[in-house]
Amino acid sequence: MAKLGYTGTEPLAGIPGSIGGGVAMNAGAYGGEIKDIIESAEVLIKDDTGLYKKKVITKEDMKLGYRSSSVLKENMVVTSATFVMKKGDAETSLAMIADFNGRRRDKQPIELPSAGSTFKRPTGYFAGKLIEDSGLRGYSVGNAGVSVKHCGFVVNNGGATASEVKQVIDNVREIVFTKFGVILETEVRFIGEF
Ligand SMILES: Cc1cc2nc3c(=O)[nH]c(=O)nc-3n(C[C@H](O)[C@H](O)[C@H](O)COP(=O)(O)OP(=O)(O)OC[C@H]3O[C@@H](n4cnc5c(N)ncnc54)[C@H](O)[C@@H]3O)c2cc1C
Repeated sequence: MAKLGYTGTEPLAGIPGSIGGGVAMNAGAYGGEIKDIIESAEVLIKDDTGLYKKKVITKEDMKLGYRSSSVLKENMVVTSATFVMKKGDAETSLAMIADFNGRRRDKQPIELPSAGSTFKRPTGYFAGKLIEDSGLRGYSVGNAGVSVKHCGFVVNNGGATASEVKQVIDNVREIVFTKFGVILETEVRFIGEF
């Protein structure tokens, strides 16, 4: 869209994933989120008989919040979405994207596999700072560990298992709670058994 001279998607440029996942999570970064540009979505939603029906929902129906939505809560499946963007200037938008991506490269461990930012930002705090101040920079279980570059990320240092990732997350939450009394909620979702 930036290349075509439309503005609004720049902060989302470095977020990996699909449109459906982005809508469900209300993906966002650097002061911008899906909520700012979405108008409606076509979804499949279960009716009272348990069958999935096609429906168009509005932005208001989606109840988009900080990494949350009615799409997630009500197990809808997004099949398409409509966005509204303003006409802008391609060169300006591409420069903004380069800036955001540069900041990501400098601050985030994108050279190692991860599921992105592991924890939500607790009100009044920064998850990474709480973890760092708990002495957990680089803390690891097996091959999974708190990123040395950015403590808000749990990374796979090579061959980590899902169970190791989960143990790091659980232990970090417990230690931060013991030290600071702050409950770290995860931004990542757990699917399966650990
Ligand atoms: C290196 C890295 C950096 C990241 N940076 C950011 C960031 O800056 N900001 C941010 O918000 N996120 C970030 N993420 C997290 C992730 O990229 C986003 O949450 C993204 O929107 C997930 O999209 P996905 O298609 O991969 O969905 P998945 O991760 O596969 O799924 C996420 C959730 O959405 C649901 N879902 C997926 N597709 C659909 C669909 N079609 N309909 C309904 N529900 C669906 C899934 O069931 C699941 O609950 C980052 C991840 C990584 C690995």
